[in-house]
Amino acid sequence: PDLATLDAALVDCRACPRLVEWRERVAREKRRAYADQTYWGRPVPGLGPADARLIIVGLAPAAHGANRTGRMFTGDRSGDVLFAALHAVGVASQPTAVSADDGLTLRGVRITAPVHCAPPDNKPTIAERDTCGHWLDRELTLLAPTTRAVLTLGGFGWQAALTALRAHGYEIPRPRPTFGHGVFVDLAAAPGHEVPPIRLFGCYHVSQQNTFTGRLTPTMLEDVLATAVEFAGL
Ligand code: SF4
Repeated sequence: PDLATLDAALVDCRACPRLVEWRERVAREKRRAYADQTYWGRPVPGLGPADARLIIVGLAPAAHGANRTGRMFTGDRSGDVLFAALHAVGVASQPTAVSADDGLTLRGVRITAPVHCAPPDNKPTIAERDTCGHWLDRELTLLAPTTRAVLTLGGFGWQAALTALRAHGYEIPRPRPTFGHGVFVDLAAAPGHEVPPIRLFGCYHVSQQNTFTGRLTPTMLEDVLATAVEFAGL
């Protein structure tokens, strides 16, 4: 299957009972400010072209952001920060993302998540991450011919990416590389595998918890993104 077929299958997934219940309840009850909107309330597929060279791995859709609009990081503060930075480094066609049909396109970048449904408190369980892992696996397989770099937003995505990349034939150093802002690790094929070398970058998540407190500033985000974009040859 191609990426569009995978995305079309993903949106029908109901494998995690707790997340299905939550995403649909949020979609029914809504936030007052969005009371006149129809929430997506389903799994949110990755965003970006099938020939992406850089894959950004976040955490999970936000209840009133992507779970409302149906598009990754679209319609909330986290996305405002992320898309402004992606636009500043030249890979997003516009600095804002408000709805799935706002015309935004990405050049050479695919944004996805280890968990595709909105979780309560933005906290998926490890079991949910493992259940959703096969979607990330298949997405990475389809993107593999062009992938040069992976950037994770936060430690949850870092762990999920390492697990997925190991399954794809990459040798993961021991001890496991530790997540941090601005860290990177070069990964090469494990013995017996043929995969091109890639670089994994770590960046603090664009959550309000980080951006409101100044733990992650727009400059810090743009710096890491610019480095990853350049490394990926974009
Ligand atoms: Fe399916 Fe992933 Fe959503 Fe679980 S989190 S229901 S595996 S799409």
